[in-house]
Parts: sequence; structure tokens; C-alpha cells
Amino acid sequence: MKIIVMFGTRPEAIKMAPVIIELKKNPAFDVRVCFTGQHKDIALPFMELFGIVPDFKFTLENSNLSGAVAEMLQQSHALFEAEKPDLILVQGDTNSVLAASLTAFYHHVKVGHIEAGLRTHNKFSPFPEEMNRLLTTRLADLHFAPAEQSKQNLLNEGVPEKDIFVTGNTVIDALRLMTVKLEENKAFSDDLKARFPFVAEGKPFILLTGHRRENQDGGLVNISRALKEIAGKHPGVQIIYPVHPSPAVRGQVMPILEGAAQIHLCDPLDYPTFIQLLQKCEFVMTDSGGVQEEAAALGKPIVLMRESTERPEIMQMTPTITVGSDAAKIIDAADVMLEGKIDRSKLNPDLLGKGDSAKQISEAIMSSLG
Ligand code: UDP
Repeated sequence: MKIIVMFGTRPEAIKMAPVIIELKKNPAFDVRVCFTGQHKDIALPFMELFGIVPDFKFTLENSNLSGAVAEMLQQSHALFEAEKPDLILVQGDTNSVLAASLTAFYHHVKVGHIEAGLRTHNKFSPFPEEMNRLLTTRLADLHFAPAEQSKQNLLNEGVPEKDIFVTGNTVIDALRLMTVKLEENKAFSDDLKARFPFVAEGKPFILLTGHRRENQDGGLVNISRALKEIAGKHPGVQIIYPVHPSPAVRGQVMPILEGAAQIHLCDPLDYPTFIQLLQKCEFVMTDSGGVQEEAAALGKPIVLMRESTERPEIMQMTPTITVGSDAAKIIDAADVMLEGKIDRSKLNPDLLGKGDSAKQISEAIMSSLG
């Protein structure tokens, strides 16, 4: 069976790497990897970290949604014509996922959708990801749901139960693989020490990521102002914020936070550094999907800078306070976290799996062969 694994962004690279590693162990699968070019600069290093080199790469000229999707449709068409895969695998909710799945449908190629069934039930939030998920569900043949709730969402939309596999989330596999690499190779901790000496000294810090489109309409300004206040109220606490390269993000964050006391702005971090910071921080402030999942699996409390989450399991995995981008709520939540007033009873950090999701996906594909 010829399988093409498609990916285009940083989270897809992280969540697909364990799947590619697992599929390549099975001689029944002829596995090829295609990079759609969606996140030109920040996606590929994550695959390289796991020793994966794409067999095919698209080149995108357009940055607007329609133009980029059109280019991915055309280039997927050429790829599927030439390679004639039996199955493509897509992950999550990006434009790459939608474009590849739609082209696969045109070519009568089966689609396996990893991280299927996440829903906010608001078609504009997250935008355009919620619609990408809905449409991909209609196009997919195999649905790999990370948890029971996502399976239920798929059932509610009429997806046949036999086509749904609850596998956990492969982000946990990636986290486990990375944790092993960190233990084996001291160079990673040396690098962290050189970049963030206060972390190596055991000083308390908050790790923050914020870049989603929903927060780019003023939300990031509120978040940045709140961070300054948090730093002022808690002079012993540092804040590390890897700022997404998008000009829309930098334009709001940098003017407020550049040079601010205790606030350490940096470029997006490599995965080994980011995971070490996650392991060591007091808590995480984020609007990211993948960071929520990783923090929850590590039992790190989360201040969630979104109005809601399509990952309800997170709340049952780790203490979580949902604040949107309201500055007062963000500051209050940080107080609660730093004062340790959090309830850790009734939590289960394994709700998104224990790191064997890729294996389960590989087995499900094998069983689908009949
Ligand atoms: N990440 C990273 N370095 C950073 C910020 C994030 O390696 O500076 C990783 C993080 O561990 C997670 C993924 O990027 O696995 C999340 O990506 P992002 O927030 O862009 O996407 P989302 O998950 O919201 O779709």
C-alpha cells in the first residue's frame, strides 16, 4: 500500500513525525512524505529533528487563503497523478489538510484524517480551521479521533462508527520521543543553560505563546499589557515569550513588550528547547492547540487565552483557567497560578493517550486493508 503523508505547518510536522516513524516499520507500507510549504520557515526543522526528509516539496507563492489553497490543490493534483497513492494521511485542521483531502477525493484516493472530530461548532472560530475540519471529515475515509468526545462529534455528524478509531493524540508520542532524546543528549540542556541561564538556576518563570488569528484583532495588545502588569506584581517571576514571526503578531506585541523588565521575547524556539521550558515552567499561558495538549500531558497548569477550547479533555488533565484575551482575567489567573491556589484533584493526564497513538493508527490502517 502506497501512503503519502502530507504536512505543511509546525504542529503537523510535530504530530506527523511519530506516525511516519511507525508506518516505516511496516514493510506492507510504501511511505512517502510531502511538505506542502504552508509554514515555509518553521516546519521543516521539526521533521529533521526526527531524521525525516520529505520526498516531495510544494512551492507556494501566495500567502492569501484562496491563493495558497489553489496552489496546493494544483500541486497535490500533479503529485497524485505521478505517484498514484492508495491512501494519503493528513493531520489536524490546516489549509494543507483541506487542499490535500479535496484533491485526493478528485483522484479517488482514500484519506486518513488524524486528530479528527475536534469541534467548536462556530464556523468562524478558529478561522479557517473549524471549517477545514468539517470539510475534511466529509472527505475522509478513516477518522483517527484523539478522544471519546471527538468520536462522539463525528458520530453526531453521521460518520459510520466502523470508520472511527479512538487513538489518543500523536502529540503525546512526539513529546515522549523528545523526552527520551533530551535524556540521552546533554547538548540540549547545555544549550538551554546558555540561552536562558535563569531557567538553569531554577528561577520561576511563565512560558507563553500567543498568535492565533482570533487574538490578532486587539487581543494580543490586551495580552501584552497584562503581561507587563503580571511582571510588575510578581518581581521574582520571569516570562518567556517566543513570538511568532507573523507581522500581524509582531506588530502588536513588540511595541508594548520590547525591553520590558522580566519579559524575555525571542524567536520561535526549536522543539527541544521549547519542551524543556514546558517541563520547567510554573505554568503556561497559551492560545495554541498543541501547546495545550503538551502542557496538559505534563501536568502543567494552563491559562487559556481563548474563549473556549475544542479540546475539552484538557480541563480534566490539568488545572486550566479560560480567560480569552481579557487583561483583568489574565492577571487574576496568573495570581491564582503563582499563589498555587489550584485544585489538582480528579485529574487524569493520560486522556489524550500514553504515547502509542501512532502505533494504533498504523494498526488501524493495516486492519482497513482487510
Ligand atoms: N512550539 C515550538 N516552539 C515554539 C512554540 C511552539 O516548538 O516556540 C511547538 C509546540 O511544542 C507545539 C507546536 O509548536 O507542539 C504548536 O504549534 P502552534 O502553536 O503553531 O500550532 P497549534 O497547535 O495552535 O495549531
